[in-house]
Amino acid sequence: MTAEFDLIARIRARAAARADVVLGIGDDAALLQVPAGHWLVVATDTLNAGVHFPHDAAPADIGWKALAVNLSDLAAMGAEPAWCTLSLSLPTGDAAWLDGFLDGFLALAAEQGVALVGGDTTHGPLSVCVTVHGFVAPERALRRDGARVGDEVWVSGTLGDAAAALRLLGIGTPADAAPVRAAPAERAFLLARLHRPVPRLALGRALAGLAHACIDVSDGLLADLGHVCRASGVGAELMLAELPASPALRAACETGVRQALQATGGDDYELCFTAAPAQRAALEALAAATDTPLTRIGRIVAGAGVRALAADGRPWQPPRRGYEHFG
Ligand code: ADP
Ligand code: MG
Repeated sequence: MTAEFDLIARIRARAAARADVVLGIGDDAALLQVPAGHWLVVATDTLNAGVHFPHDAAPADIGWKALAVNLSDLAAMGAEPAWCTLSLSLPTGDAAWLDGFLDGFLALAAEQGVALVGGDTTHGPLSVCVTVHGFVAPERALRRDGARVGDEVWVSGTLGDAAAALRLLGIGTPADAAPVRAAPAERAFLLARLHRPVPRLALGRALAGLAHACIDVSDGLLADLGHVCRASGVGAELMLAELPASPALRAACETGVRQALQATGGDDYELCFTAAPAQRAALEALAAATDTPLTRIGRIVAGAGVRALAADGRPWQPPRRGYEHFG
């Protein structure tokens, strides 16, 4: 059991500096220099033990993911991340747990050049709340409300891996769910996709001027593309057979199960965006230049809501929608 002051000192000793942090951890508040001509972009996300991660999850994985899911929101806005704050509610003042947590959290922060500039440390049920701050030039911001009829819908990376990992762990699995199985290497890949998502920051920044609308896939593709459609006043058609799948996911389950995981599973943290068909070549070049798979998965249509179509063109009904708290 370590006192609050000593826990904060442990955090402060490991927090990296940045030139635009005038005053970081240690005062009543941080003083930060926003670059001229840019908007400040702010996002916050909480991870609660037992809801967002198992109580016995590795502390370093919790640390990584708590920052990653926040940075994914900045990626979806086309922003460049700069700073973060960290509110920790800890059941015991366990310094070893905190050190492990910081290993994961600060590894991702260092990778992305993000400085930890403050936070709060309290006693209570295990919960991690992170706020991230970044910048974007006004004309480069990506929003949910810009999708236009005739746009094509794209997604980065692969979908369904994290949902398959949850099935492997038996978390939230319906009693009648078809089995998901994986050999050790595939299992490790799928679990890493769940525990160590990599926010698509470089892609988000590169989409300025190309994408009309963008969102990160955190609650499931159907649910998140639904948010884009609602905000933009349009509908979408998704080609189920076009959804990108990793080799590990293909090996882990049969086609019907895989497609359901890809369309409705959460926690992928890929970017889903819409762009005019005229941008196809530019997006393919961007995918090659940044080594980021980009797949066209559907189109924006007049109307409302997302329709998923099977390979034969018939409408496909999801077994369930994306994750909703209090749902
Ligand atoms: P106050 O009582 O003025 O709110 P605190 O004692 O909560 O100050 O925090 C002291 C300093 O340590 C502040 O600068 C705060 O931002 C920082 N801090 C507290 N907890 C954390 C944390 N978990 N991560 C990063 N900084 C923290
Ligand atoms: Mg405080």
